Amino acid sequence: MSLNVVNISWYISVTRLNSYLHLLKMLPASENHQVHNGNRRHTRSLCRKSDNSNLEFESKMSPRVASYVSDIKTEDTQYTKLLENSKEAVGRNKTYRSDTASQQGLSDKNTTRVRKQRSKITIKYEKNDGFENNNTDVETVSPYFATKKHEQTDLERENKRSKWEPEGWLLVLNNIREMRKHQDAPVDSMGCDTISDRTSAPEIFRYQVLLSLMLSSQTKDEVTSAAMMRLREHGCNIDNILETTDEKLGKLIYPVGFWKRKVEYIKKTTRILKEKYHGDIPPSLEGLLQLPGIGPKMAHLIMKCAWDKLTGIGVDTHVHRISNRLGWVPTPTKEPEKTRKFLEDWLPREYWNEVNHLLVGFGQQLCRPINPACVTCLNKELCPTGRKNVKTMKITKKKK
Ligand code: SF4
Repeated sequence: MSLNVVNISWYISVTRLNSYLHLLKMLPASENHQVHNGNRRHTRSLCRKSDNSNLEFESKMSPRVASYVSDIKTEDTQYTKLLENSKEAVGRNKTYRSDTASQQGLSDKNTTRVRKQRSKITIKYEKNDGFENNNTDVETVSPYFATKKHEQTDLERENKRSKWEPEGWLLVLNNIREMRKHQDAPVDSMGCDTISDRTSAPEIFRYQVLLSLMLSSQTKDEVTSAAMMRLREHGCNIDNILETTDEKLGKLIYPVGFWKRKVEYIKKTTRILKEKYHGDIPPSLEGLLQLPGIGPKMAHLIMKCAWDKLTGIGVDTHVHRISNRLGWVPTPTKEPEKTRKFLEDWLPREYWNEVNHLLVGFGQQLCRPINPACVTCLNKELCPTGRKNVKTMKITKKKK
């Protein structure tokens, strides 16, 4: 066994030297005195001396002391290795941090701790539904509070849902399904996704869905469908519509409701789609709501028809009217947007997808704006308006 005291004396720290001293103190005095006399200073001087003469130092130790020192040296070697490994790991970590920081353009001061910066997001609330969407409140909040706000809204909805829902609504809904089973309402053959060209490229199909919904506002399905057919014959894609004059576009879409204003919105929207969305439509509700002439009703329907994403209930004039007649809102509403919020509060999400299509067709055929067919309606006993209408009709008949 060779004892390399030169190495020990240079790299042994005070802690390790204390271990030596501790061990040596535990030895019997007769053997201990050969290495040192219990004095730490004397031990250090022995170690220094041994720098030049290992053999001389070794010869002063008894076999038992030499064995103890050997054990300590083995432990020291392991300890040193461990220390070196951990130093290496720390070094690697520092290098990684430094690299990451330099990639992110941080100065040396910031290299010890690289933190991801939170960016602010913008939430927009729209006041009015309908064709104009210029009334928007813009609020900038941090993502943390935005999430909290979202969570709160969900919680509020859940509370409201447990508090209020219209009595027997599922039976009423099933009756409407039964009355709509033939699928022969105008919306079934002339809906926005039906009159758009599914055989064209996906982005052109989505653009046509958006245009057909813009045209459908305040317009009968038959008129919207005819206008879309003329546009498709003309070439209903972004480049072609941008090249078309306003006068020509007006002639193509006439006589849809508010056709002059719609020409203006179509041109503005198409230009934005070309410049900002590379010829496609925005893939989010927020993006759609920023386009001229797109309100929440249209945006939800576009998300559903064009992107196959369910973001909310599309409440048009039919859904708004029927919901009020059936008492599907806790208090009567005047605006479709208010109706949408009430419906989304209590109606389970799995029904959101079908409710627009179901009620629009029902409103076109039976629950019409004027003279609803309450007598033949399966919901005449369940619907407050139906009960009232049937009663009035009976009284009128009796008088006659
Ligand atoms: S009873 Fe009359 S008002 Fe009520 S849902 Fe039927 S058609 Fe509409």
